[in-house]
Amino acid sequence: MKKYETPLLDELEKGPWPSFVTEMKKAAIKSEIANDELGQLEHSYKTKVGYWKHGGIVGVLGYGSGVIGRYSDLPEQFPGVAHFHTVRINQPSGWFYTSKALREICDIWDKYGSGLTNMHGSTGDIILLGTKTENLEAIFAEYSSRGWDLGGSGSAMRTPSCCVGPGRCDYTNYDTLEACYQATQEFQDELHRPAFAYKFKIKFSGCACDCVASIARADMSVIGTWKGPILVDQAAVKAYEKNGMNINAEIINMCPTNCMTYDGKELKIDNSECNRCMHCIAKMNKALKPSGERGATILIGSKAPIVVGSMLSAVVVPFMKMEPPFTEFKEFVRKVWEWWDEHAKPRERIGEVIEAKGMRSFLEAIGVAPVPQQIKEPRRDPFVFFGPDDIQNIKDKEAEEKKTGKWKF
Ligand code: SF4
Repeated sequence: MKKYETPLLDELEKGPWPSFVTEMKKAAIKSEIANDELGQLEHSYKTKVGYWKHGGIVGVLGYGSGVIGRYSDLPEQFPGVAHFHTVRINQPSGWFYTSKALREICDIWDKYGSGLTNMHGSTGDIILLGTKTENLEAIFAEYSSRGWDLGGSGSAMRTPSCCVGPGRCDYTNYDTLEACYQATQEFQDELHRPAFAYKFKIKFSGCACDCVASIARADMSVIGTWKGPILVDQAAVKAYEKNGMNINAEIINMCPTNCMTYDGKELKIDNSECNRCMHCIAKMNKALKPSGERGATILIGSKAPIVVGSMLSAVVVPFMKMEPPFTEFKEFVRKVWEWWDEHAKPRERIGEVIEAKGMRSFLEAIGVAPVPQQIKEPRRDPFVFFGPDDIQNIKDKEAEEKKTGKWKF
């Protein structure tokens, strides 16, 4: 194999952090693909030009997504990367693996691809970087025979992802691992056969700490919440103070709704004003904990800046029970897709369509009543303005539904 001089890439190995260049050099010893990738990247750094191009549809039989075609613009100079396709493998919920599973993934990839991986892509998949068209069916056959499947790509539902949830966290408000798994199984067709206007991401977080950053990265963010008061262990609060925590500065003054007080003896919370942001609980998890009914808030519309700027998800359903088999959630997803499908132009994310058509028509179409919690962004404008009569109506309805056991939010 040709040995490339890489003085510019070598600079990136000098910092205090692990370097992707070091890993590429290791892979380049065994793989012509990785070796030529190293050569082309150095050439790119020298000329300040990118040499990757999309082109042609590549994939495996029966699947419309999961493989992203990539070709080099300099195939004669760097023949190893003439094709450099990316394969996405659907990750397990919460990214829990055995070391045996990781070895299995890497052994198959060493056989057919560059050996380079990205664990994980921003959608969540295991990303295998760089293989040739003629290897794709064999790669798929080997992975699928061992129980792995491809992830989503293109204008499809992308591989759902979730935080570690009950696998490692005592504060999750629903089983994010199960919800993610069930959504993946339920929407296999939407995942593997792109039929949407553009991509659609669902991410599951067990609480508002939002460890998968669903509020900024998912078209549908499912964030765990609770209905009861925050339980306070006053002795544990005192212990935090004794150990150096400034309760007023770090907790009380940081509460976004100003619903907490602390007089040096007792920490009090006006739970009717709490917006379940998790700040105080995350900082004092030995002293505070949520109580009562658990479920999730469903928010819609976030995305990174592509066609227009970045957006955050907005609350659509303040509280939904999230318990297997997640029937209400699955039905809700389908209703949302139906409306999006009808109104979206090509490459329009659902958040952009809601901006264009208005939250009101979206809510009407999916059959969700307007409620004050449907704010555009935290601590900003509501989508719907409520006059005194509307508020009285809401209160009357709430009282009636509580009586008949139909109260949901
Ligand atoms: Fe305040 Fe957030 Fe704690 Fe609620 S969860 S009391 S809003 S800091």
